[in-house]
Amino acid sequence: MENPTKLVVRNIGLILSGKLENPILDGDCVVAVDGRISEIGREQDLDTGNADTVVDANGVTLSPGLIDSHVHPVIGDYTPRQQQLHWIDSCLHGGVTSMISAGEVHMPGRPKDIVGLKALAIASQRWYENFRPSGVKVFAGAPVIEEGMEEHDFKELAEAGVSLLGEVGLGSVKAGDKAKQMVAWARKYGIQSTIHTGGPSIPGSGLIDKDVVLEADADIIGHINGGHTALPDDQIVCLCEQCQRGIEVVHNGNERSALLAVRTAFELNQPERVILGTDAPAGSGVQPLGILRMIAMLSSLGDIPAETAFCFATGNTARMRDLDCGIIEPGRSADMILIDRAQHAPGKDMLDSIRQGNLPGVGMTIIDGIVRSARSRNTPPAETLPSVVG
Ligand SMILES: [Zn+2]
Repeated sequence: MENPTKLVVRNIGLILSGKLENPILDGDCVVAVDGRISEIGREQDLDTGNADTVVDANGVTLSPGLIDSHVHPVIGDYTPRQQQLHWIDSCLHGGVTSMISAGEVHMPGRPKDIVGLKALAIASQRWYENFRPSGVKVFAGAPVIEEGMEEHDFKELAEAGVSLLGEVGLGSVKAGDKAKQMVAWARKYGIQSTIHTGGPSIPGSGLIDKDVVLEADADIIGHINGGHTALPDDQIVCLCEQCQRGIEVVHNGNERSALLAVRTAFELNQPERVILGTDAPAGSGVQPLGILRMIAMLSSLGDIPAETAFCFATGNTARMRDLDCGIIEPGRSADMILIDRAQHAPGKDMLDSIRQGNLPGVGMTIIDGIVRSARSRNTPPAETLPSVVG
C-alpha cells in the first residue's frame, strides 16, 4: 500500500476474540495498520501515535465482523430472488462484514451447460473481487456442479481462481457416488465444497438425505437444519456423529433442528464444527439481522454463552473457510464491529441480554481497518455508541 494507514480503537469495554478456546480477550484497545490488526491490549502499553483514524468505543464491545457462511448473491448489491436492492448493505448494518457464496443460483437464465456454468463462476468470482458492496467481502464464484463434468473442468476452474463449489445437489448431480467423485476432484485442486442438506428449497430443487451427504463427503454439511425443510432428527444426529465435516446452521432453516445439531456438536465435544449462515436471499427473503438472530437464538434457547455463540459466526467460520478475518489477533484483517446492549434490553450487560434472547445494537462496522458504517439503521438502537474522534 502506498500510504500506510493506522486505526486505533480505544476505550473498548469488552473484546470478543472469535476463538472458542479463549472467547474474551484482556484489553481496551486494538490497533490496525494497513488494514491488519497489529496490536491488542491496554492502551498505555500500545503504540497508538500517528493514527489516521481514532475511534472512541465509549466502553462498548468489539467483536470480529460477522461472517455469513451461506448466501446466494448474483451481481453487485442486487438480488433478483426478491427483487431487492442494497441487501448486502443491509446485512453490513447487521454486523456482517464477509459473506460466502453457496452458489449464484438465482441468476436469471443461469447456464447449466458446462462451459456456461464455468464462465458464470469465473465471472462471479471476478465481479465480487473487483467490487465490494459497501465494503463487504463477498467470496463468490461457486459453480453448481452438473452431470458430465470431468476432472479437467475442476482443474480449469481452480486455475481461473474459483475456490468454492455451490451447494452440491442444486444441479443435476444428486446421486452420492457421482457427487463424491466431483467433490474429490474439487478438493484435489483446492476448491472447497458444500452440500445442500434436507428437502427441496424451492420448486426444482430436490431432497438430499444423510446417505447422500455422507457419501459425497463435502467439506461443509450445508444447512444441516434444512433450507427450510430439515431431515428427520435421527439423520441430523447421524450426520454429526458419522463425519467430521462442518456443521452449518442457517437462519432460513428449521430452528428446532438447528438446536439439535448444535447440541449434538457439543455432546461430541466438537463445537468448532459449528458455523452460521442465513441462506439469504431465499424464499423467506433477506435477513439483514439473520446472523445476530442466530447468535441470540442459539445462545438463549441452546443455553450457550453469548461469547461462544459469536465464535460460530466468526473464528469457527474463518478457520474452516481459510479466511484471514474472523479473529481478533495480530496479522488478521481488521474486520470488526462495535456493539452494545440494545436500549431497554434486560440483562446485566450485553452478553447477558443476548443470553436472554435479545439482539445487540450495532454501533459501527470496520472492514480492512476502515470505518464503513456508524449506528446501524437495522438493529435496535445500542445503548451507547462509539464515535470517530480523530
Ligand atoms: Zn440449499
